[in-house]
Amino acid sequence: MKEDYYDILKIDKSASAADIKKAYRKKAIKYHPDKNPDNKEAEEMFKKAAEAYEVLSNPDKKARYDQFGHQAFQGGGGGFNGGGMNMDDIFSQFGDIFGGGFGGGGGFSGFGGGQQRRVKGSNLRIRITLTLEEIANGVEKKLKVKRKVQASGTTYKTCSSCNGSGQVMRITNTILGRMQTSSPCPTCGGAGEMIDKKPADADAQGLILKEETVSVKIPAGVVDGMQLKVSGKGNEAPGNGVSGDLLVAIQEEEHSSLKREGDNLHYDLYVSLPDAVLGTSQEIDTVTGKVRIKIDAGVQSGKILRLRGKGIPSINGYGKGDLLVHINVWTPKTLNKEQKEFFENFRSDEHFQPKPESSDKSFFEKVKDMFS
Ligand SMILES: [Zn+2]
Repeated sequence: MKEDYYDILKIDKSASAADIKKAYRKKAIKYHPDKNPDNKEAEEMFKKAAEAYEVLSNPDKKARYDQFGHQAFQGGGGGFNGGGMNMDDIFSQFGDIFGGGFGGGGGFSGFGGGQQRRVKGSNLRIRITLTLEEIANGVEKKLKVKRKVQASGTTYKTCSSCNGSGQVMRITNTILGRMQTSSPCPTCGGAGEMIDKKPADADAQGLILKEETVSVKIPAGVVDGMQLKVSGKGNEAPGNGVSGDLLVAIQEEEHSSLKREGDNLHYDLYVSLPDAVLGTSQEIDTVTGKVRIKIDAGVQSGKILRLRGKGIPSINGYGKGDLLVHINVWTPKTLNKEQKEFFENFRSDEHFQPKPESSDKSFFEKVKDMFS
C-alpha cells in the first residue's frame, strides 16, 4: 500500500504551505543522495518526500489528494503512475525550495540515472466537455489531436559538444557544500545526438505537425476540472527521445434538470395541488433515462424522495450516489369564480388545517439528515 503523503513528511492535514515546505526541506537535506552515497533506502525516502511535496505544495493537487487520496493520481488521474518522480524532476523542483544552486535540470525534463538523458517531448493539453450522462456511465472519446511527430527521412548524428553523453559537468556551491552536478548539454539539449538531415517541411528538431485521432477512455464519476493523462500521446521528441503526454481536462456540461453535488444528484419535481392531494405517478429524468416514480396521496411540499444508487458512481470505485427528488407542490396563482368558491368551502375544514407530524420534518431538519 502506498504511504500517506502527510505521514511521509510527518505533518498533519492542517499544515500550512510554509510548514509543508519546511518539512520537505528537512527531509530533502537528510536524505539527499550526496549525503547518503550508495544508500538505496535514503534515495527511496528522498524520492518519496519529493513526490509528497510535489502534490501537497500544489493547492489543486492537494485538494484532490485530500479528497481522493492516491486514487486521485491513478488510472489516468494525471500524476505519478507507479514509478514516482525521477531525480531530474526532483532537482528541478529545488529551485523554489532552496533558492537555486541545487540545479541540474533547470526545466529540462528527461530520464535520470547519471547517463545520457532521453529528451521528452512536450505535453499537449486538450479540454473536453462531457454531459452528466457521459460522466455517470463512463465514455470513450475519440479526440482529434494535432501533435508533433518525427518526420520520415530525418537522420541523426552524435553530438560533437558532449560526444553523445548528453551532459556537461559543473561545480556549484550549495547549502550542502560544493557539489558536482551535471546539466544537459546546451548544444543537443541532453539528447546526445543532433539532426544530420531532415526534410524541408520539418522544424529544427525534425518534427512535423500531424493530426491524429486519440481514443480516451473516461472513467465514470470524473469531476469538472479533473485532468486525465494519456501517456505518450503528446508531442514526439527528436531522435530516441520519448513522447510527451496528452493531458485531458474535464469540463462538465450543465444538465437541464439534474444538479450534481458530489456523487449525489438533485431533481426538482413540481406537483399540482390535485396531484399532491390525490396522489399520482410522474416521470423524472435520471442519468440512465426516464424513471416513473409514485407520489403518495397527501404528499407535502419540501419532501425529499431518495432514489438510492441513481446518482453518479464514485470515481474511487466505491458505490454510487443517490438521486434526491425534491417535491414542490404548485399552488395556483389565479382561480376562476367556481374554483375560488370550492376552496372557500374548505377554508375552515379540519382536513385543510396544517397538522405537522413528526414524520413531516421541516426542510432544515431534512437537510440536516441528508448530510449527517
Ligand atoms: Zn550534446
